[in-house]
This record gives sequence, C-alpha cells and structure tokens, in this order.
Amino acid sequence: MIKVDNISFSYDGQKDVLKDISFTIKQGQYVTILGHNGSGKSTLAKLLAGLLDLKRGQIHLFDLHLTEKNLPLIRPRMGIIFQNPDNQFIGATVADDIAFGLENKRVPHHDMQSMIELVATQVGMQSFLNREPSSLSGGQKQRVAIAGILAMKPDLIIMDEATAMLDPKGKREIRELTAKMKLANPSLTLISITHDVEEALLSDEIIVMNEGKIVMKNTPLEVFKHRDALRKIELDIPFVLRLVDALNEQGMKLTGIKSMDELVNTLCQ
Ligand code: ADP
Repeated sequence: MIKVDNISFSYDGQKDVLKDISFTIKQGQYVTILGHNGSGKSTLAKLLAGLLDLKRGQIHLFDLHLTEKNLPLIRPRMGIIFQNPDNQFIGATVADDIAFGLENKRVPHHDMQSMIELVATQVGMQSFLNREPSSLSGGQKQRVAIAGILAMKPDLIIMDEATAMLDPKGKREIRELTAKMKLANPSLTLISITHDVEEALLSDEIIVMNEGKIVMKNTPLEVFKHRDALRKIELDIPFVLRLVDALNEQGMKLTGIKSMDELVNTLCQ
C-alpha cells in the first residue's frame, strides 16, 4: 500500500530534516507517526501527500511511484485532515461543505443528499447539516472535515496533527471517531501524525521519529515498553499503561491492556 525507500529531505539544501527513512504500511493498517515537535513528522506527511518535492529516495502509494505525473492518479484516492479546523471550510453550511468534494467528483445531485446524510451520521453531525461552520466547536469542525473526506471514499487518510488544536473534549471526540471509522472501514489505511501518546495507543502500529530518523516501529504495547528511551526523546507513557504498571507492582498480573475500559472490565472480572 505504502512503500517509502531511503528518503531524505532538506528545506534549505543544507540540513537534512529527514534522514534516510524507509518503511512499509499494509492496506487497512492504522499507523501513528509519533514524535516530539521538530522530529520531521509533518514533513513526512507532506511528502506522502505529494505536497513537497522529493529529491532523494522513492515513495510508492497504491503500487504507483509518487511522481508529478502520477499525482493526479494518486490524489483522488487520499484525504488529508490538517491541524487547523478553521482552514478547511469552503461551504457556507456543514451540508454545503460536505457537498463540495462530491460536486468536484461529479456525483449526481440526486445521490448527493443521501451520501451527505450518511457520512454526517457516521461522524455524529447529522443534526448540524444546516449550521454555519463558524458556529461549531473545533472538534465538530474536524468531524465535518472527516465527513467530507469519507464521502470521497478514499483508500488512505492522512491526519496531520488533527487533534493538536482541540480542547480535551474535542481530542477525545476525534480519537473515538478515528477508532470507529477504522472499525467501519477495515480496508481503509489511516496514518495519523501526532505527539499525543494516548491516541497512538489506539493504532495498530507506531512509527516513532526523532531528529528526522525512525527510532522505533512496532505495536503500541511493544513501543511503550521502552519507557526510558521514549522519555529521553520527550515522549510520555499513556496514563492507562502507567496505571497498569503501578497495579502490577502491587502484585497484579495485568497484560495486554490498552484502554481504561479494558482495565475496568478486567478488574471487575
Ligand atoms: P514535526 O511535524 O515533527 O514538528 P516538522 O516536519 O514540522 O516536524 O519539522 C522538521 C524540521 O524541519 C524542523 O527543524 C523545522 O524547523 C523544519 N521545517 C519545517 N518546515 C519548514 C519550512 N517550511 N522551511 C524550513 N524548515 C522547515
């Protein structure tokens, strides 16, 4: 699905901000790219989306070499959610905004309304269709942006710090929606760029970046075993895992737990 081979990147032609990066992502995987500010995550996301010009190394998406010539074949198959929810609106109402992408895709008008309602329901915004985007919270705006992308039925969604500007409630809403969206679309590949360790815990795999390099690539539970190494690069351990550790120190034998719900259920049993 995604193959990145030996890519390096520099903005000024002198200092490499990405240094010889290689990885693959299979179709249907939910992968978070985790790293402290300045580690190169957004640069990597922009290269994957074809928004920056790659000069060293190669990227293949959907078995196509990512080149200027292939970009028109690749772009319609991917959706990108950016950090700032205010920069993503085009329509005067929520429904108009979702319709915009469908119009571009020349979806017939009589199919459009049902499609808009379906995706608005999937993100829990069905009762907001006639609202002006400016009256929505940050989390609601990001949900509308996600609905607009789901309507396009992409094979790949890249979320570039989509929760970074949201309050804790908004962050939780988007985290839960992301997990739900993946369950509902098993073949959808999702890459989420984040420095939120709680979000990373929900993904299938984490790529940890530091100073332009990949320092770990593994399942969340394996990655978060390397506590000291993560702390050195200013990444914390998710709260639930710290709690599991503390309980195990008191003699419990809890393993494989990734969420508060799982922890509470196991303790109740
Ligand atoms: P992250 O997303 O992990 O915070 P970035 O990819 O934004 O990291 O940044 C990686 C490095 O590239 C940083 O040192 C940053 O200052 C630099 N950088 C990012 N964008 C630009 C730009 N447009 N021009 C020059 N340097 C940039």
